[in-house]
Amino acid sequence: MSRAASSKPLRNVVDYDLLFDCVHCGLCLEACPTYAVSRSEMDSPRGRVYLMKALADGRLELDADVTRHLDLCLGCRGCETACPSGVHYGRLIEDARAYVESNYSRGWLDSLRRRLIGAIFPYPARLRAILAPLRVLQAAGVQSALEGIVPRPMREWLELLPAASRASVVLPQALTEPSPDATTVLVHHGCVTRVLAESENINTERLLIAAGYHVVQLENTVCCGALDLHSGNRTRALEFIRTNVRAITRRGADSIVSAASGCSTAIAEYGLLLKDDAELAVAARAVAAKVTDLSSLLLASNRVAMPEFRCTVTYHDACHLAHGMGVRDAPRTLLRSIPGLKLVELNEADLCCGSAGSYNLTEPAMARALAARKAENIAASGADYVVLANPGCEFQIGAELRRRGAKIRVAHIADFLAMVINQGTAARGESR
Ligand code: SF4
Ligand code: SF4
Repeated sequence: MSRAASSKPLRNVVDYDLLFDCVHCGLCLEACPTYAVSRSEMDSPRGRVYLMKALADGRLELDADVTRHLDLCLGCRGCETACPSGVHYGRLIEDARAYVESNYSRGWLDSLRRRLIGAIFPYPARLRAILAPLRVLQAAGVQSALEGIVPRPMREWLELLPAASRASVVLPQALTEPSPDATTVLVHHGCVTRVLAESENINTERLLIAAGYHVVQLENTVCCGALDLHSGNRTRALEFIRTNVRAITRRGADSIVSAASGCSTAIAEYGLLLKDDAELAVAARAVAAKVTDLSSLLLASNRVAMPEFRCTVTYHDACHLAHGMGVRDAPRTLLRSIPGLKLVELNEADLCCGSAGSYNLTEPAMARALAARKAENIAASGADYVVLANPGCEFQIGAELRRRGAKIRVAHIADFLAMVINQGTAARGESR
């Protein structure tokens, strides 16, 4: 549907024309996690598109209620893949978030929490420094005691912290050199992943090397900008993005992957985000076009022989990989290629687990409701492992499974494949 020529927005909330793509059919509602939990129209994609248009038209003021409904959106983009009308919901909500942050005064506690997240998470050195005392308490085995005495919001943050020992399984470094004509893959190490799930970066690189790719890294990795884009801090997001475009272009690569699918999707949108940048628009488009994912590259090379591993696995679709990049089949095909492994489909596999970047830190109640729903579906699958392709999902689902005392293990696909290969190598060694 095209916008009437006389219609002009009163306020610059979002790209106004995009709002007219929504035909209010409601087909996105059941794909929306917040609607699935609340059953409230204003917590659905259609309701939020209505709110954005009413704000832009000046029919609605940006008050606490409107902000609440927009804040509660996970930015998961489940609505985009469900929408038959091609509504660019991800772009709309990112613009609306930037509008909220510039035009709405949050309460002091909410502001403080958001400022802390923004000041710490994109900077690995700061995050490491903040976590250092907690790591000492973890090592001393008193984290649970601490969780028992701190206020509830802090306890929920603590519960999300993965064990320091989670990173213990890494593939040994391959000794073979890639062939001179090997495809060069740049692995973007991200910011939070480097601190909390470095094994995912290492295993991603080593799997790619084992598959025959020439793997390169950036000299200095900065945040991809996703955290700021999702929280409405567009100015700093664009600074990070420009730094990344320059660094990636300088480094040169045929393909770009990240262990965090939120980072991959953000990089895949650099072309769009810098389309009006006189200096970097062309380079940003070139960078964006190179983004792919680990599973697709491993399948394309078909050079990593997977040993037998007898277990039942279910696969959780990380939102940005499934809805943002459209990657659903490749990880499943890769898992099915492991002899002895039985892959069972997860009910609501592509419904957000509530992690969504820093959402589980700012919206803990909705995040917990979604984690609980995910954990129940995982339990019903009867699997031994739930495999996924995003560190945030690992922390969120892992915390919920620990709270429930569930035995099922959660693993990033790079760590899972590394574990399978290592066990196969160990078994071969024993049988000699
Ligand atoms: S992005 Fe996710 S939470 Fe937000 S409206 Fe769309 S489906 Fe719902
Ligand atoms: S499915 Fe698309 S067109 Fe239909 S209500 Fe949802 S966003 Fe609008």
